[in-house]
Amino acid sequence: MHSPGDVRIEERPDPTIEQPTDAVIRVTASCICGSDLWPYRGAESVENAPMGHEYVGVVEQIGSAVKEIQVGDYVVGSFVASDNTCEICLAGFQSRCIHQVMIGAIGTQAEKARIPLADGTLVKVPGEPTEAQAKSLLAASDVLGTGWFAAVAAETGPGKTVAVVGDGAVGLLGTLAAKRLGAERIIAFSRHADRQALAKQFGATDIVEERGEAGIAKIKELTGGYGAHSTIEAVGTQESMLQAIGFTRPGGHVGYVGVSHGVELDGLDLFFATVNLLGGPAPVRRFLPELIDLIMTDQIDPGIVFDLSLPLDQTAEGYRAMDERRATKVLLTP
Ligand SMILES: [Zn+2]
Repeated sequence: MHSPGDVRIEERPDPTIEQPTDAVIRVTASCICGSDLWPYRGAESVENAPMGHEYVGVVEQIGSAVKEIQVGDYVVGSFVASDNTCEICLAGFQSRCIHQVMIGAIGTQAEKARIPLADGTLVKVPGEPTEAQAKSLLAASDVLGTGWFAAVAAETGPGKTVAVVGDGAVGLLGTLAAKRLGAERIIAFSRHADRQALAKQFGATDIVEERGEAGIAKIKELTGGYGAHSTIEAVGTQESMLQAIGFTRPGGHVGYVGVSHGVELDGLDLFFATVNLLGGPAPVRRFLPELIDLIMTDQIDPGIVFDLSLPLDQTAEGYRAMDERRATKVLLTP
């Protein structure tokens, strides 16, 4: 991305092993993330940056210190490389590993990518995925893993009423996660008919189109005045965050995974909200083994969030399609 709105495919040198813990993978599929739209729209500065942090692929080279991952393995990793051995990783927060490397700085909207800390970052997929499973594995790399973390952080579970703010891929897959984790009722916010349908397919029981104060009032109305037990916030704006905190019942939990832009919380409002807040970049790596198993045994099908597939050389069109909301999630193949 040369500047906001200016995406080009260019020839770059093939990645090589730089550290003994690196692997180089041939990227078999990548995609465009909702968070890539922040720089695309000029909400984050960007200058000549490689793009992309979601990936599935086949290992082509490994460094001398890589022990678990082998050449030829079909692998999935998250958008943060992590050693998976430090105290933060062992506590389940690999996205904040003390040795973290952001994959977005490397760029996986590409034919190949260097993956740092390969043993800690990559998870080998057993067997050969079908095309549908490969799409779902790619979803696991970020949007599914992020939605899953949000649902877990929101303490979703049996008997809970879960509200989901955001009808992008993360919100939709947060809905899938909430359903899978046993939520009794799932209320999804969406104003788009196609995304409402997908939310219902993933397990939403109610759809709410109101936003802001009206959205808060609607959730209160639907929950006998109490508010939601668990809230998944998958947008990251001032409005979405205030809405999420505003309709979560006292003692409830908000899992916030929308990358925060311009959000300012009033301390006194927060004090009296009496809710638990946990969010941030999702530790996708924590969930990958379980998610890979659910996908490879066809128990979940998150790959259906991809509604546009393009060859890598049409990536710029993919960004336009997502920016204009003509596509929810764009898959890219070399
Ligand atoms: Zn670590």
